[in-house]
Amino acid sequence: MLQFFKGLKITFLTLVISSIIFTLSHYFSNVWLPWTPIIGNVLYGLFIIIIIFAAQFSRSRFSLLSALWLLFYLSIEQQMPWSVWLEVNAQWQVLFGATLFVLLDFIKDRGLLSVHTLYRFFLLGLCGALSFLWLSVSQWFLITYAEYDVVINWGKYLTIELPLLLSVLAILTRSLLKASLLNSAILVSYAVWCLNYYQWLTLPWSILLTILVAHYLLVVIIDSYFLAYRDELTNLPSRRALNQLVLSLGRKYTVAMLDIDHFKKFNDTYGHDIGDQVLKLVAVKLAQVRGGGRVFRYGGEEFTIVFSRKDASHARVELERLRQAIADYKIVIRQPQRKTKQDRKGSKRDNTKSVSVTISIGLAVKAPKQKFEQVLKLSDQALYRAKKKGRNNVSD
Ligand code: GH3
Ligand code: MG
Ligand code: MG
Repeated sequence: MLQFFKGLKITFLTLVISSIIFTLSHYFSNVWLPWTPIIGNVLYGLFIIIIIFAAQFSRSRFSLLSALWLLFYLSIEQQMPWSVWLEVNAQWQVLFGATLFVLLDFIKDRGLLSVHTLYRFFLLGLCGALSFLWLSVSQWFLITYAEYDVVINWGKYLTIELPLLLSVLAILTRSLLKASLLNSAILVSYAVWCLNYYQWLTLPWSILLTILVAHYLLVVIIDSYFLAYRDELTNLPSRRALNQLVLSLGRKYTVAMLDIDHFKKFNDTYGHDIGDQVLKLVAVKLAQVRGGGRVFRYGGEEFTIVFSRKDASHARVELERLRQAIADYKIVIRQPQRKTKQDRKGSKRDNTKSVSVTISIGLAVKAPKQKFEQVLKLSDQALYRAKKKGRNNVSD
């Protein structure tokens, strides 16, 4: 559910910001109009940059998408051997484009030059063939059943609008469920493709594609930032982000090391997957830290909180609150369905279970001339004392 709302936010914001940019570009056309020939040439360079850049950052879908856009741009701007054929077969072109967007939305970001490349080329060809097949079948259908009322009223939407609508539903759903900047960028690209076909978006392709390529570049940059500085499981800032923060810390701060109690036993009892679920939920609670604290996943089931410009007594109050909040937290976990005799008999079984965990916390305040590593080590020693004292407490 949380993922869906995140997806809704990302999709909505991407669509709103893109609409604003396209509207502004339309409104201020007098600004870029004299530059159109130059923009058109720079675009080739931008294509090459994004194709290499995205591949470098393991975002091969953007490389593939940009390469396809480049091919399309060459076809309309230069006289390619197939340019006239494409112009005559505009319906096939729009359907082929739509199926490609759906395909790119669903495949994984695998290495560009890997064993999967051949398979991808096969899928691209399949999209082309399917689009052609659909055009032929729908035409045949419309001619064969021409006398039926439903065909008379709605038949005109069968060939193009129906597949475009189905494609947008697939791409939109994916964008909402995936909550990824990449998928919402594909949604925007698809919207541009369709709106241009219906001539509701009349900007020249050089401008449209410059905006789209700039969007892809931005997405790859933001995405790689999160890849480097966010922990994948808990979505908390990672240890690398902690190292980055250390560089900007002042002379006064307090560091806390947090560790989940008996987590190995927890994993042994409930399994690693449920252990992961619990880690994520504990991270959500820790992310709600107040009092100026910033939380990081240090590694495993250990977290670090840094209170910049705060002393131990200030941090202790907040850490005590967090410790209590986690101890009181009844974590509802979903257990994988197991087929038992009871199930087969048809009786219902509750598939959720409530568990709880506790955390131990050690804290240390920076003394003059101490380095961050030393303060961290002291907080780790304090954590050890907290464990010795019987766990589920804050120690210094
Ligand atoms: P203590 O109260 O002394 O901290 O006991 P503990 O069992 O938590 O401590 P220990 O450091 O011996 O074990 C940590 C365990 O945490 C080991 C590993 O099974 C588990 N763990 C570490 N990282 C992950 C993770 O990403 N996912 C899951 N599910 N378990 C993890
Ligand atoms: Mg540990
Ligand atoms: Mg532990």
